Amino acid sequence: MDLSVSAEEAAFRQELRQFIAENLTPELKHGSELSHKEASVRWHRILAARGWGAPQWPREFGGQGWSASQFYIFEEEQAIAGCPAISPFATKMVGPVIMHFGTKEQQDFWLPKASGGEHYWCQGYSEPGSGSDLAALQTKAVRDGDHYVVNGMKIWTSYAHLADWMFALVRTSSAGKTQEGITVLLIDMKTPGISTRPLITIDGTHILNEVRFEDVRVPAFNRIGEENKGWSYAKFLLGNERALIAQVAASTNMVKRLKDYARVERQNGASLLEDLSFRHRLAEVEIELEALRITNQRVLYDNSSGTAGNGGAILKSKGTFVSQALAELLSELVGFYGAPWIKEDLLHGRNEPWPGPAHAKGAVSWYMRTRANTIEGGTEEIQKNVIAKQVLAL
Ligand SMILES: Cc1cc2nc3c(=O)[nH]c(=O)nc-3n(C[C@H](O)[C@H](O)[C@H](O)COP(=O)(O)OP(=O)(O)OC[C@H]3O[C@@H](n4cnc5c(N)ncnc54)[C@H](O)[C@@H]3O)c2cc1C
Repeated sequence: MDLSVSAEEAAFRQELRQFIAENLTPELKHGSELSHKEASVRWHRILAARGWGAPQWPREFGGQGWSASQFYIFEEEQAIAGCPAISPFATKMVGPVIMHFGTKEQQDFWLPKASGGEHYWCQGYSEPGSGSDLAALQTKAVRDGDHYVVNGMKIWTSYAHLADWMFALVRTSSAGKTQEGITVLLIDMKTPGISTRPLITIDGTHILNEVRFEDVRVPAFNRIGEENKGWSYAKFLLGNERALIAQVAASTNMVKRLKDYARVERQNGASLLEDLSFRHRLAEVEIELEALRITNQRVLYDNSSGTAGNGGAILKSKGTFVSQALAELLSELVGFYGAPWIKEDLLHGRNEPWPGPAHAKGAVSWYMRTRANTIEGGTEEIQKNVIAKQVLAL
């Protein structure tokens, strides 16, 4: 693996910068008046119009067939410029599953809408009583002619209240091991019998939901792969989900911003960047981030199977550590100016200045949000178990 930057890569970065400069309106930038979904979908459609809706996908599925390093640069440039984050559910999670395990008809129906930013997806895996022990899930799907009838409940479903579609794990058999009776269904969220209830998190935002299914009829066409074989497709997807919680591009942007802020933040007559203790702590995180960046590229270069697989557990674990350490440093840097909780400001933007430096806005809210990285996509303990058993064969 060659990590040096080629002339082509430098030119590619330049092309991206120019595209972003020409298309990222102030309204679309972080902290604008738009909701998270509106900003994300609008930006996704702008990228899609340029052919970059899912550029990492193979050309036969509407992508550009970009290499891992090209896609990495693409994401890094967007993070640095403050572009809205594209929801990963469509292009990084369900899209690759449909590509690998779906039929041609399913690919033709769902993939263009996933890469074009037309469908907004959510993930229906977790249930009360089945999070870490995901295979214990109980939401039932019973075949009735050319439909499945779904009954049960999902929980912690991010963006379910905004989603057009859910990729869900359902139980189609109770015979044998729990893993053997699971099926993947793609469910239209407008189907009668689906209801969502908000779960408000400690940072005051509504992202998570409880989703109930009462006699929800799902066409059998929407089943991915074979009935009762969903566990292997679910694990394929989890490998990719964990890899993306590494958030290398976002953390790189945060390190840069922290240095900028520390340059202007003054303590005892000197800038915080001159404070040895702060410098050491920032340098330690930066070294961890550099190691994560290289591991990320290694895992993605090896990605011939279409999933980061167990490598995703390493990326998730280390990525969580780095994001949390950076959030902690930012909170310390801004002190009590990071603490105000102004809902309108955090969710939609507001026409009044933040009480304190602008970079303090939402710092503590973000710190609290990063705590959840330890849990979402599989807890830290579960990642350590996967690394010990599957990666290190202990
Ligand atoms: C912000 C956020 C967003 C989320 N979004 C989604 C979503 O969109 N879709 C979705 O399906 N789910 C989502 N989840 C749910 C998430 O996947 C689960 O919360 C997670 O898998 C843990 O499951 P649990 O909450 O049931 O905890 P439990 O599994 O009950 O775990 C409780 C504690 O026990 C520990 N533990 C459990 N088993 C073991 C073991 N074998 N060895 C060692 N320790 C163990 C865990 O590490 C944890 O500390 C989200 C969660 C969060 C926090």
